Amino acid sequence: MSQVHKVIIIGSGPAGYTAALYTSRALLKPLLFAGYASGGQLMLTSDVENYPGYPEGIMGSEIMSDFRKQAEKFGTEIVDKNVSSVDLSSRPFKVTVEGEDFFSESIIVSTGAEARWLGAENEDQYKGRGISTCATCDGAFFKDKEVIVIGGGDSAMEEATFLTRFASKVTIIHRREGLRASQIMSLRARENPKIDWKLNTSIKSWTGADNILTGAVLTNTKDNTDSNLSFDGAFIAIGHQPITGCLENQVDVDGHGYILNKINTMTSVEGVFACGDVVDTRYRQAITAAGMGCMAALEAEKHLSHS
Ligand code: NAP
Repeated sequence: MSQVHKVIIIGSGPAGYTAALYTSRALLKPLLFAGYASGGQLMLTSDVENYPGYPEGIMGSEIMSDFRKQAEKFGTEIVDKNVSSVDLSSRPFKVTVEGEDFFSESIIVSTGAEARWLGAENEDQYKGRGISTCATCDGAFFKDKEVIVIGGGDSAMEEATFLTRFASKVTIIHRREGLRASQIMSLRARENPKIDWKLNTSIKSWTGADNILTGAVLTNTKDNTDSNLSFDGAFIAIGHQPITGCLENQVDVDGHGYILNKINTMTSVEGVFACGDVVDTRYRQAITAAGMGCMAALEAEKHLSHS
């Protein structure tokens, strides 16, 4: 068996880098697998205006680069590769990366989550050019503009209500008549005079000019007829999915695949911790993920000192 690490961290969003910062400052020499596309969901946003400490805002890629530098400064070893699988059935735990095995006394999982996309025609072309999956991140760019929100769950209601702070009009587009959202969230959206509704409607394709989104072709899901709608921005809010492929059947997850924290940040396997969006179905903010990364690091440190 090769070297046994104290801590291996899987994932490189705010949670993973914060866990790395804390475990490296605790002299645990963490090894962090950042993945090929390191930095997590903030790499997909432009300006981050709600991370405390940056009154002028900061680019998503820039703040993640700073997170990384700070973790490296204290001795985190970072490998930009994807973990293919982990084996938590025996100790030390085994982490396999491109056929190479790494061993560790503890693991911190911070693999994050990804927003689900619709997959409508031309979607790739307009991602980040009018189509977003995060109203908190991008809503402020649509001041006095008309936007649409797709989805009928709590996320869609919440995003639509939030967007009315900026947009002149928000149209919720949902594929069915009935909403999946809770009564209270639906009511709040229904009572908002800036929110308009297009039920029984789906997006067929996105339309634009000069590579900027200007509207969509909609399909009425009842009679299959198409129509055009013009708007300035679109927010897809049809749910998130946690990224847990490398951990399949290794730790307990909830009905949606999110890793369950048994106590504090510990998973169902003692010595394995999980933090950030891979466990968080509620807040999903960079600052909350970073906070959980700190918690997981402190828990891992405590666990190692007792084992
Ligand atoms: P969700 O409850 O799964 O709702 C997803 C919505 O998107 C559904 O209305 C669904 O339509 C629609 N949808 C899914 N795939 C689609 C597709 N391919 N095309 C068109 N529409 C599609 O997801 P969520 O709203 O993100 O909520 C996830 C969990 O977080 C829920 O438990 C929710 O209560 C919770 N949450 C809570 C709050 C809060 O309390 N503040 C805020 C946000 C989320 P159908 O209805 O037709 O399936």
